[in-house]
Amino acid sequence: MQNFIYTGNPGRVVFGSGTIEQLDSEAEKLGVKRVLVLSTPEQAEQAKAISDHLGDRIVGLFSKATMHTPVEVTMAAMEEVNSLRADAVLSVGGGSTTGLGKAIAFRTDLPQIVVPTTYAGSEATPILGETENGRKVTKSDPRILPEVIVYDVDLTLSLPVSMSVTSGINAIAHAVEALYAREANPIISMMAETGIGALARALPTLKTDPLNRDARAEALYGAWLCGVCLGSVGMALHHKLCHTLGGMFNLPHAPMHTAVLPHAVAYNAPAAPDAMRRIAKALNATDAAQALYDLASHLGAEMSLAKIGMPAAQLGETVDRAMANPYWNPRALDRSSLEALLSAALHGERPPATDMR
Ligand code: NAD
Repeated sequence: MQNFIYTGNPGRVVFGSGTIEQLDSEAEKLGVKRVLVLSTPEQAEQAKAISDHLGDRIVGLFSKATMHTPVEVTMAAMEEVNSLRADAVLSVGGGSTTGLGKAIAFRTDLPQIVVPTTYAGSEATPILGETENGRKVTKSDPRILPEVIVYDVDLTLSLPVSMSVTSGINAIAHAVEALYAREANPIISMMAETGIGALARALPTLKTDPLNRDARAEALYGAWLCGVCLGSVGMALHHKLCHTLGGMFNLPHAPMHTAVLPHAVAYNAPAAPDAMRRIAKALNATDAAQALYDLASHLGAEMSLAKIGMPAAQLGETVDRAMANPYWNPRALDRSSLEALLSAALHGERPPATDMR
């Protein structure tokens, strides 16, 4: 047997179809009366329509949420929070909008209600990545964890197939790294395996039938479980590499995770055989890294980092940066292996079969 510690993050989850109709009663339970609604510019209309369910409780809409949570956007939103005397935020959207809500909560401790519309999983974590002067800094704090998540499957029907695929693989990445995390424990591993399985079953259906409500529900359920994994145990090579790549080249978040994941898994496979067996089992396959590559590429995801914006000439510099801040990983990091990993991801190659010796 193995000793373990499990700490559950507090938070209330409402899950289903038509659940946005419960937003007002959720706000009532929180005791909030002056809610500021947050969204990206693209989702302003949708956020406005959803906020109508809260009637007089809504005091304003700030629709400038941006990927990687730039501090200057947060500061503009903070002016609205203060001038409107908001006592809560309602974030409607993906990880970018949730990030803005978290950045406000970190500064004010205002309660957050999140209505997620992608599979990023940020709503289930006490983690915030903020960008200032071209650097992304991550912090974790109980104030950052949203109080209430209202998952309404109906809102995910509009998520384009290509984004559904990469967002779903982004979620799978959280669960994959949870299975070999230093703090891995049986509860989170159970959620990880179930989360990977749910997304791996749902995404192929969504590719051909994006309005399939059962598949949408299964994907969203999987995304929640994967988000809990991310928020509960430490991450390793895959997330750290994506952090470095995102910061250096501002690559699109979910597509970048999709292209890197099979290679990070292939790298770690020899050092984490039990995790590999569980990932492969959840994917109904034998080789975890190859199965992740095949799942994403068969669903039409771009597997080459070069094709989504990473300059090939900066491969060496990327490796240097990735090696600069040491962190825990099941397999030790060495420069030449990391360079091979990133080169394979740069060119979108299928990882070789895992050597589990
Ligand atoms: P996103 O929130 O940037 O959304 C991408 C685009 O899709 C936006 O224009 C958005 O308005 C639109 N969109 C979202 N849902 C839609 C829907 N249902 N229909 C149509 N359009 C929709 O993308 P994301 O991948 O969800 O989030 C990425 C960000 O989240 C990154 O900044 C990343 O760092 C952060 N993130 C943070 C955590 C955490 O725990 N802190 C976890 C995962 C991701």
